[in-house]
Amino acid sequence: MPDLDIAIVGAGGAGLTAAIYAGRARRRTAVFERMVTGGQIATTDTVENFPGFPQGVNGFDLAQLMLQQAEKFGAEVKYEGVESLERTSDGHFVVRSGSDEYRARAVIVTAGADYAKLGVPGEAELTGRGVSYCGTCDGAFFQGQEVAVIGGGDSALDEGLFVSRFASKVHVIHRRDQLRASAVLRGRAFANPRLDFTWNTVVERIEGEGQVERVLLRNTVTGEASTMPVSGVFVFVGQVPNSHILQGLVELDAGGHALVDLAMKTTVPGLFVAGDVRTGAARQLISACGDGATAAISAEHYLAERWPGGE
Ligand code: NAP
Repeated sequence: MPDLDIAIVGAGGAGLTAAIYAGRARRRTAVFERMVTGGQIATTDTVENFPGFPQGVNGFDLAQLMLQQAEKFGAEVKYEGVESLERTSDGHFVVRSGSDEYRARAVIVTAGADYAKLGVPGEAELTGRGVSYCGTCDGAFFQGQEVAVIGGGDSALDEGLFVSRFASKVHVIHRRDQLRASAVLRGRAFANPRLDFTWNTVVERIEGEGQVERVLLRNTVTGEASTMPVSGVFVFVGQVPNSHILQGLVELDAGGHALVDLAMKTTVPGLFVAGDVRTGAARQLISACGDGATAAISAEHYLAERWPGGE
């Protein structure tokens, strides 16, 4: 079983930053990633609020730079999803992926969060057939067509604006009459003639014969039902933390986020949690990266204290 000093679970902003710090501290470091490096920014067209990029930066490109930096300091990325995590009686961790097992002295879980589902009939059946959770990935398929974007947060507006480059009309359907999104995105969305807002409305059903054709809506104030013909439905109704490997190991809050202290420590010695999977996260790229740095520094202190001679 290969031995690691620090195993990092998830190669988003938090994980890659932790890898830069851990690698630079000359720790044997591996980052486990089940999909693509970068996490949520990998599918973000332009990141505008990461310091140092006044013109904005493409999310995928930024993630590749972080990856190069982590690899430069010796961290290795393993494209394997971690399925379980176990602490042994001698104070190590066993990290099990689908294909292998690793022994690690410290673990930093930066597994992030996935987009939440609406949970309405038709959503699962029509996913990939007009229902999407990524405007940046799928927007171009809807050239000249009308689509719906569900949600009123930053993701809904950011992705809705991107999709409006292709779609003839983007109907933003929000359950309240006020957006949660930040002022800058609100301003941009209201100024875009291709974006149209449907307020106080929820989606009850997504329908179509093998492909999305319409959404069935209900007004939350009047109770009135209506039908909107669209060929795409982009769902951005929040996020669900990827904390399943932490279940039973550390305490989770009601939303499934891991409880940590300000040093990203959990109650399990040697186990740290950082980024969107921890409780109270600001859910921004910069704060996730900051968390990752903090967790790696805490892990370094832990290793130096627990194994002062190195071996
Ligand atoms: P979010 O801020 O939690 O917003 C989720 C939206 O979905 C809210 O408007 C919410 O309505 C709505 N919603 C939740 N459940 C729903 C349901 N069952 N049916 C209908 N609508 C539902 O999530 P997010 O937009 O993904 O953003 C997550 C974090 O990432 C935030 O911190 C955000 O600032 C950040 N982010 C930033 C940027 C950027 O800066 N460019 C871009 C993307 C994301 P209510 O408002 O009524 O609760």
